[in-house]
Amino acid sequence: MTFDAEAKMQFLFALRSKGVTDTAVLEAMEKVDRALFVQGYFSDRAYEDMPLPIACGQTISQPSVVGMMTQALKLGPRDKVLEVGTGSGYQAVILSQLARRVYTVDRHRRLVQSARGIFDALNIPNITAFAADGSHGLPDQAPFDRILVTAAAEDPPGPLLAQLKIGGIMVVPVGQSDAVQRLIRVRRHETGLDYEELRPVRFVPLVEGLGKE
Ligand code: SAH
Repeated sequence: MTFDAEAKMQFLFALRSKGVTDTAVLEAMEKVDRALFVQGYFSDRAYEDMPLPIACGQTISQPSVVGMMTQALKLGPRDKVLEVGTGSGYQAVILSQLARRVYTVDRHRRLVQSARGIFDALNIPNITAFAADGSHGLPDQAPFDRILVTAAAEDPPGPLLAQLKIGGIMVVPVGQSDAVQRLIRVRRHETGLDYEELRPVRFVPLVEGLGKE
């Protein structure tokens, strides 16, 4: 299947019916062909609203979850964003359409390499991908206007909270990896942090240290 007019219409309909209503987010998701990020056997299911397996035993998130998380970040065109969990690179590309600069990290080198190949092929200049343990954030590039974690942590990681600007927003799935987790939005104010629970989600776990491949 190709991302033709009909596939796009169905894809966008599924997003809207699951609560993705932000026009800029929908436009970005209409522009970026998800099939590029899903290789092999599952590529013909790229426009269905489901998570799909990628290399290293990881998953590309469900499109409606990508849309909800992006929407929850309330991105501005000047924002510098950190994504923890590059995976396929799909979410990073969506972010790159709505923000000034995107840094994305994954603990699997192989995923970072493959995502970089896609960013280059699409001529996207404003994403930098690193192989690193993202639970420490990226101290050299900090602070960030927005931080998106696309793997589940038991608690929002302290170093990431510390790398959030005042007025900044972090979205992170919180909870045990084998259960349903809660998507949390954290805002940093002059005087502290505000936590808001958004919806239940299911993500692969945030794991410490670099992966083997
Ligand atoms: N955002 C991705 C999906 C992420 S799946 C996409 O759009 O396709 C979660 C990813 O988090 C996996 O690729 C996994 O390797 C990565 N991950 C888990 N723990 C991590 C850590 N400590 N640092 C960086 N990446 C991590």
